[in-house]
Amino acid sequence: MNSLSPLQKFSDALPNHGKKMPMLFVGHGSPMNGIEDNEFSRRWKAMGKELPRPEAVLCISAHWFTRGTFVTAMEQPKTIHDFYGFPEELNAVQYPAPGNPMLAEETSRLLTKAETTLDHEWGLDHGCWSVVKQMYPDADIPVLQLSIDGTKNSAWHYELASQLFPLRKKGVLIIGSGNIVHNLRILNWKNPNTEYDWAAEMDKLMKKYISESEDNKLIRYHDLGTASSLAVPTPEHYLPLLYVLGLKDRNEEIEFFNEKIVMGSVSMTSLKVL
Ligand code: ZN
Repeated sequence: MNSLSPLQKFSDALPNHGKKMPMLFVGHGSPMNGIEDNEFSRRWKAMGKELPRPEAVLCISAHWFTRGTFVTAMEQPKTIHDFYGFPEELNAVQYPAPGNPMLAEETSRLLTKAETTLDHEWGLDHGCWSVVKQMYPDADIPVLQLSIDGTKNSAWHYELASQLFPLRKKGVLIIGSGNIVHNLRILNWKNPNTEYDWAAEMDKLMKKYISESEDNKLIRYHDLGTASSLAVPTPEHYLPLLYVLGLKDRNEEIEFFNEKIVMGSVSMTSLKVL
């Protein structure tokens, strides 16, 4: 439930800039991308310099998959190390970006389609911080997360996303963080630079539909062919893409980056909406 005090009810966290902030869908891949200097993280770093400096960042991360919709609303979100079997160096990472409780409330107010709960327990999971830390290493921009309600279907998420639109005009950088092709059960550990044929085929098809604004086909991703169940065996890494598409105007330009498949079955394909 929205829980707003009367005083907070009509106050906006940020003024209207008038201009639309670009958006990103980022294929985050391995948590190690958060600390490694590699082809993917270098592009994230460059993106942090290319984009107008945001007032805040709102992440929709594959790794916060919940029953119900939550927005992080704490002053100081903690860094969550939600992975196992990685080097101690990764477990030691702290990304001390502040939160923005007022912006969390404003976000919650915008999302009338959902019953949104302001969250004080979560923080920043690696789907969010691995990317944002590379983009904004000084941790001086407030970062919020919006959870993905796992009980809802893809069309619902696409429609919910559109309600976030006013935030784009307030300088909030919205980042969907997942992977459009993501199957960890059949990762090719021996040859990280390989791609399975079906993964390449699905990646190509999804890019085609993104380019052509065929959002309905992407919402109905189960119907994209026999390989779709291999590419999207579970929805959490795919749905962040639908948030970005749901927020995109048809006439907005897009630019793909990090177009590569790793370990056979994970596409790093990412998207910038200009
Ligand atoms: Zn992930």
